Amino acid sequence: MKKVVVRFAPSPTGFLHIGGLRTALFNWLWARKNKGKFILRIEDTDQGRLVEGAVDNIKEALQWYGLDFDEGPILQSERLELYKKYADELLEKGSAYQCFCSAERLAEVRKVQEVNKQATKYDGLCRSLSKEDVTQKIKAGDSHVLRLKVPQDGSTSFDDLVYGKITVANANIDDQVLLKSDGWPTYHLANVVDDHDMAVTHVIRAEEWLPSTPKHIILYQMMDWPLPVFSHLPMVLGPDKTKLSKRHGAVAALEYKKLGYLPEAVLNFIALLGWNPKIEKEIFSIKELISEFDLSKVNKASAIFNIEKLDWMNGQYIKNLELDQLLNMSKNFLEIKKEDKLFFSKVVRLHQDRLKKIKEIVEIANHYLVASYKYDPKILVPKSGSPEETIIILGLIITKLKTVDQKDFDQDDRLKNIFEEFIQEKELTNKSVLWPLRVAITGLEKSPGVFEMMSALGKQKALQHLEEGLKKLQKG
Ligand code: GLU
Repeated sequence: MKKVVVRFAPSPTGFLHIGGLRTALFNWLWARKNKGKFILRIEDTDQGRLVEGAVDNIKEALQWYGLDFDEGPILQSERLELYKKYADELLEKGSAYQCFCSAERLAEVRKVQEVNKQATKYDGLCRSLSKEDVTQKIKAGDSHVLRLKVPQDGSTSFDDLVYGKITVANANIDDQVLLKSDGWPTYHLANVVDDHDMAVTHVIRAEEWLPSTPKHIILYQMMDWPLPVFSHLPMVLGPDKTKLSKRHGAVAALEYKKLGYLPEAVLNFIALLGWNPKIEKEIFSIKELISEFDLSKVNKASAIFNIEKLDWMNGQYIKNLELDQLLNMSKNFLEIKKEDKLFFSKVVRLHQDRLKKIKEIVEIANHYLVASYKYDPKILVPKSGSPEETIIILGLIITKLKTVDQKDFDQDDRLKNIFEEFIQEKELTNKSVLWPLRVAITGLEKSPGVFEMMSALGKQKALQHLEEGLKKLQKG
């Protein structure tokens, strides 16, 4: 079997977005699965649309996500001679022709076609220019482009791995411009020449290129080149079925780094945008993605980007991290003073299962690493209780806790037993004691378990928070 060669071929007209990342990932997975080659090719022939920093951003994003390329980045702008060579060959063969039509004329042709509800395409006026006419116009310095001479009858077909067999009547295919008037190739020419030159076996790209593919097929046929396998990936839409935009979550691939997502989690989520593994499983390690991924299991229905699902998935990945790994990653977002490190690591461990993004650790630090908590004293009172009763109970808790040894704090089950006995002895309800205790100890309405938190805080700090809670409530 031929070695699989795929390429990710972004145009550096902006930063890498989620859709581009999905294309890169599917190519990369296919290469790794088949022990093939993954090429990064920068399609920068549209010099007017280049965005500064785009290539660096693409490289940085691929690196952060771990999508390593075996070759590249290859810049099309450095390969102009190659495109020119094939353009000349096409002209020579009679598969392309020079077109001298002005922009005004083309606009006029278009207008008429639109009025007549016809497909808008070049009307072929310059197809019939004689060799002499062409030579004369070129000598006179007339501006011109090179167009593909699409056969006027018959049809063009190809099999797409995702969309199936596609057939288009040649009469509906435009005589595509191959070289622009400044001599630069268009996307179409450079793309096909490069895919051939780089021996690309699978063209895996966004669905938006599906309508261009018949033109590409004609180019391959005219050059007598073997066809790669085409696999167009379905659109990625927001949950409201509109084009993915900022409203649906960050669209820039690297934004997820800043927000505290794990690259593996984002890749796992992105892999399922269009690929249906057809098994009851959602969490796939990179290794599993490589072994399970299959281009033939890509759907043509649009994929829905649901940020809540990504958050859930990221949470699953965070849950499975070793505490040290998590603390290490949090260093990208905050710095913890030496003296706080031990306590902070205990608190992070208690919150780990609930985290959706690494960055949420900043909120944890801001909440816990302060002299005293900020919260509304009302939340100390359980639903069924009253402030007066809670004040009394907090007073009893404090008195009790003062008699408890610090070493009992080192075991949360020990604290639990002490409080169970205390509740029984005082004939109180669980809720009336444990609710205000937990809120005062954590400063939060929703929080991890109270005894674990007390154990993390130690006797002195725990008492301090309880006394503060009591004072808050007494002040009203
Ligand atoms: N340069 C095109 C893009 O940025 C690539 C299309 C292709 O992969 O053929 O989408």
